[in-house]
Amino acid sequence: MKTKSFYSVPEVVAHLKTGQPTLFHSSQTSTVIPFENLSGLNGETVLGNLSTIKGHLEMLKDGNLKVTGFVTWKEAKEFCLGHGREIMTSPTEELAGVLAGIATSCTGERSFGFKNLRSQIVEVNYLDHDGEEKKLLADKKLECGIDLSSYQKDFNHYKNFKNAPYPRLEFETDLMTGTEGQLGVITSAVLKTVEHFPETYVFMLLPRWEENFEPHLEIYHAVQNFRNEIRACEFIDSNSLSYLPAEKNPGNNQDVIFLEIKKDNFESIYENLLSTLTLINEEHIFEMNASKCRDLRVSVPRAIFEVNSRMGVTKKGTDVQVGEDKFRELLSFYRELAKKGVPYNLFGHFGDAHLHFNFMPTPDKNDFCNEQLETLYAKVLEWKGSPFAEHGIGLLKRKFIAPFYAETEKSVFRALKKQFDPKGQFFPEGFMTC
Ligand SMILES: Cc1cc2nc3c(=O)[nH]c(=O)nc-3n(C[C@H](O)[C@H](O)[C@H](O)COP(=O)(O)OP(=O)(O)OC[C@H]3O[C@@H](n4cnc5c(N)ncnc54)[C@H](O)[C@@H]3O)c2cc1C
Repeated sequence: MKTKSFYSVPEVVAHLKTGQPTLFHSSQTSTVIPFENLSGLNGETVLGNLSTIKGHLEMLKDGNLKVTGFVTWKEAKEFCLGHGREIMTSPTEELAGVLAGIATSCTGERSFGFKNLRSQIVEVNYLDHDGEEKKLLADKKLECGIDLSSYQKDFNHYKNFKNAPYPRLEFETDLMTGTEGQLGVITSAVLKTVEHFPETYVFMLLPRWEENFEPHLEIYHAVQNFRNEIRACEFIDSNSLSYLPAEKNPGNNQDVIFLEIKKDNFESIYENLLSTLTLINEEHIFEMNASKCRDLRVSVPRAIFEVNSRMGVTKKGTDVQVGEDKFRELLSFYRELAKKGVPYNLFGHFGDAHLHFNFMPTPDKNDFCNEQLETLYAKVLEWKGSPFAEHGIGLLKRKFIAPFYAETEKSVFRALKKQFDPKGQFFPEGFMTC
């Protein structure tokens, strides 16, 4: 595999002019591209590193943030806080690149209160197949000479999902959002930010979802009317928490749901929401400060990763979001998967009916788990849910996403690739090549 690191935009331009097929990458935190084993790429494809391009951040007069080059979410967050502002997307993996986040249409905890990254993008600049820099605006309808009317009709069903099974393609910036680098290289972007207010976290201890998820569902329904006051509504089950040392585990063989709220909203959330819950005991509700909560949040995936590495386990994870009417069915389905005799855990973005169920199989159970996940994706298709609402398709999910594309989607992908990638140089193994 040929690899190349770029240190400036002109170097990328020169490379694009050669027309070599390239998988450009940033931090390589994608969970759907196995960077450690890229046997799924054509032998000719170059692995092009963009994380070596020096980043720059600028707070514009209108409070929007301009991101140029390689900048991580952590850096962007800290920079904004230094200006009394906040970015509205917060993926759990803070070392991922912001521009890569546009390419993957990345989401995070705060999508509950602030919607998806798509709605926070103002402008995107990218290099096209000739290495020419082009500007895309979020308030301009996408006009590319391709008939998108049937495609958008299909997309319409998913408009309130974090990510549909395919990109939106309604406004200019959608060309680079969630298209996973298959139409160009993103060089800079402008994102909306909001004024910073101190936050706090409300934790609720719950019975294990495998035994009783009624209290969980009561919270899910209750929080829907508080999207203006609650920024995140997250879930970590007892299995995920069991990886932590006892002193860090807030529960005792219990699940937790926690809410991120502005400190100033605490009283009103308590009065109007928490005190109305009938299935949760008041003594199981408590407050946690931001830094302790952040520590807990990052400790769980790290602890799971460490244990897996030691045991030779490769996680088989899901990234499913369903509509409100199907959430109970999704939980019931996960409950059946939990009975299959393979260790598992469940966590995710509960308020958005978007959960990551993970099998933790020893290598001899890998095929069995893949078969189980295929039955799940068949159900998600039937429920008209979104199978990969956050982490994208990459290489690993291509097989599973295929049934979600009708001829309408495939013909639009083909037309876009022909127009924007005539030499087939942008991640030719991606989902748009069909
Ligand atoms: C522990 C953990 C937690 C995670 N949590 C979240 C989460 O909360 N939310 C979420 O959405 N994801 C999450 N992810 C997945 C991952 O972090 C995101 O998909 C992220 O956007 C990838 O960024 P990256 O910089 O690592 O990109 P890479 O992995 O390097 O690349 C990802 C894709 O983006 C394309 N790309 C990268 N840079 C550019 C560019 N400049 N122009 C065009 N295309 C480009 C690549 O071609 C590739 O298709 C998590 C991953 C891990 C390991």
